[in-house]
Amino acid sequence: MKELHYKRILVTGGAGFLGSHLCEYLLNQGHDVLCVDNFYTGTKLNIVHLLNHPNFELMRHDVTFPLYVEVDEIYNLACPASPVHYQFDPVQTTKTSVHGAINMLGLAKRVKARILQASTSEVYGDPEVHPQTEDYWGHVNPLGIRSCYDEGKRCAETLFMDYRRQHGLPVKIARIFNTYGPRMHPNDGRVVSNFIMQALADAPITIYGDGNQTRSFCYVDDLIEAFHRLMQTPNEFCGPVNLGNPGEFSMLELARKVIAITGSHSEIIFKPLPADDPTRRRPDISLARNYLGWEPKVSLDEGLEKTIAYFKQLSFAMGDAKEV
Ligand code: NAD
Ligand code: UDP
Ligand code: UDP
Repeated sequence: MKELHYKRILVTGGAGFLGSHLCEYLLNQGHDVLCVDNFYTGTKLNIVHLLNHPNFELMRHDVTFPLYVEVDEIYNLACPASPVHYQFDPVQTTKTSVHGAINMLGLAKRVKARILQASTSEVYGDPEVHPQTEDYWGHVNPLGIRSCYDEGKRCAETLFMDYRRQHGLPVKIARIFNTYGPRMHPNDGRVVSNFIMQALADAPITIYGDGNQTRSFCYVDDLIEAFHRLMQTPNEFCGPVNLGNPGEFSMLELARKVIAITGSHSEIIFKPLPADDPTRRRPDISLARNYLGWEPKVSLDEGLEKTIAYFKQLSFAMGDAKEV
């Protein structure tokens, strides 16, 4: 259902995977969308279909620098999300989470905007509590190769809570669990995109470790719906709230599903497990169910089929481009 009052909404990281879906969703609700992105991992291709929309505006900007605009709501998504990308320039990753949060909170404070932070299940680190509930403080290595992301996001959560306590800002914190779907970057190294691209090429499917580690995969449309519901909650509610699909799968199960759906001839091969790779991950989504009236609707099989269709068409387009 469309909302009655139109708003000016800032989406940082709007040219990325999740951001581009969110921009589209908000435009469909009738809002004015300002997409801010420095194209570090995002691409104009993700939003090219929105560029001519009269309510859409694109600004190239790095959120580690101040931003002066007038908006009613802010969704702060800017930050590389795949381990390969966020470990490429770890100092910039921490800066993006921490300086980016300070700037966007400063902006929200000045214009009295609601602000939502795209936090992550990584704040739980390699969790000792399973499934993860929001009151669990986590088990994060502060010194390892994932720390730039995990600690950056943890610090951003702290800043959000302090701006709420110190300045009365209406903040919302979403702890997002692994989300996948069309417009994921094909080479970003995340498991869903890797397995699909490998399967489509009949190339070996690379499992890191023994493949018994688990993740819970949420389809992008479900997640965007939850973002929007969270933003609409009363000011008293700030979260953090887990957003994800509680279905839990091992990487071996995922590989077999992708092979079955694509009809691929790929073999499965095993590679070393990266340092600090979490062993198990599954969200307890009771809070989201009770407070947002939300739960994911798209099963992993259904979501994989849609994502595979996207990557097929992308591979076809890339193949065409190579021949030109
Ligand atoms: P993505 O890499 O596709 O998108 C991130 C976007 O942020 C890109 O467009 C990138 O160019 C932009 N960006 C990065 N640094 C920036 C900066 N300094 N200034 C301006 N823009 C910048 O990743 P995604 O999967 O769409 O993730 C979006 C957000 O959701 C991230 O904050 C991520 O941490 C969070 N998240 C995602 C997942 C997931 O599974 N997709 C899970 C947990 C959390
Ligand atoms: N800021 C911004 N846009 C604004 C207002 C503030 O980017 O519209 C930045 C500003 O540069 C500052 C940060 O947000 O570094 C935090 O602002 P705040 O007002 O909380 O702190 P202060 O300016 O007092 O350090
Ligand atoms: N993974 C894998 N093969 C790949 C890419 C990733 O087995 O080609 C594993 C990775 O080690 C991790 C899981 O899949 O255990 C999820 O990895 P991803 O990078 O997608 O997300 P995250 O580790 O941040 O949850």
